[in-house]
Amino acid sequence: MKTKQDIPARMMAIVTYGPRDYRLESVEVPKPEPREMLLKVEACGICAGDLKAFQGGKRFWGGGQFSQYIEEGCIGGHEFVGHIVSVGRDMEDTFQVGERVIAEQIVPCGSCEYCRKGLYWLCEPHEVFGFKRHLNGGFAEYMLLGEKSIVHRVPEGIPLEKAVLIEPLACSLHAIDRSTLQPDDLVVLSGCGALGLGMLAWMKAKYKVKVIALDLRKSRLDQAKKIGADYVFNPKDGELKEFVDSLTNGIGCDVYIEATGHPESVVQGLSCIRKQGRFVEFSVFNEDVSCDFSVIGDGKEIDIHGVSLSPYCYERTIRALEKGEIEVDGIVTHALNLGGYKQAFDLAESDGNAIKVILTP
Ligand SMILES: [Zn+2]
Ligand SMILES: [Zn+2]
Repeated sequence: MKTKQDIPARMMAIVTYGPRDYRLESVEVPKPEPREMLLKVEACGICAGDLKAFQGGKRFWGGGQFSQYIEEGCIGGHEFVGHIVSVGRDMEDTFQVGERVIAEQIVPCGSCEYCRKGLYWLCEPHEVFGFKRHLNGGFAEYMLLGEKSIVHRVPEGIPLEKAVLIEPLACSLHAIDRSTLQPDDLVVLSGCGALGLGMLAWMKAKYKVKVIALDLRKSRLDQAKKIGADYVFNPKDGELKEFVDSLTNGIGCDVYIEATGHPESVVQGLSCIRKQGRFVEFSVFNEDVSCDFSVIGDGKEIDIHGVSLSPYCYERTIRALEKGEIEVDGIVTHALNLGGYKQAFDLAESDGNAIKVILTP
């Protein structure tokens, strides 16, 4: 095993006990097995999914049709980036101490039906960093990357406030891939959180489309304008359908990207979209959505494209950040150290000006 000399025996970490019960504790620094590496975390973003887990969402804690996914005692965080400080014996040919890396949020099993077909992001056990005790995440000073982790090198030239966005930007890129955009499409982007703004950045960098960005928060709409939204619209200020109709002679938008996780946004999208339009869904909902499903078939013949995670998108994202191809300045709004985790979750949950809140151990 190759290792740095100054690794302490204990570290601080935010341990998950239950909904709204996360505690900053001193725990042992894990020791890598021969096929593992130890990462010193530079920063880890708080994702909407982390927030929904913190709030006690059913998809995480069980209830309704869901069984419990998250394990008490785990350390959260899958949007991490850091430096390798220790490399297990069997990994020494592949990675070096000191390299800056990121691992994809999902750790595929490699043997299920989906993994065998190359659809690793849909892996049946679906193990994601930060939700299981054997797969602790980046809300800690150190974390382990196992042999099944998909690890990518991150150039030192990418500043931390951009490197920490690689995971959400990779997810945003997959959403845009799944939107099958055509030249001159009018796209309604509903939700300008970090994921939505990332989607906007990709659209503006790679496609000749017009985008209407939607959010209830003015600060996010201001950020969307900076990134290049052609129009911004606050649903508090009026009916989106009227606005879209006024731009399209009553036809509707070509694509509606749902990135809010709010049921009303789904209903709104189905009403604004044109016949044979595309509805792209990338959200986690805490509540059920109820809407008139017939509009998808008999009404408008809509294509629904679901989006999950970020397959084959990390390298593309790292290259784009390295070349400065996508505009992401201003998406990270707050950085706090681990001791400020309560305030960090609070900011992410309810501060009108917060977009991406990150923890820097
Ligand atoms: Zn995330
Ligand atoms: Zn699998």
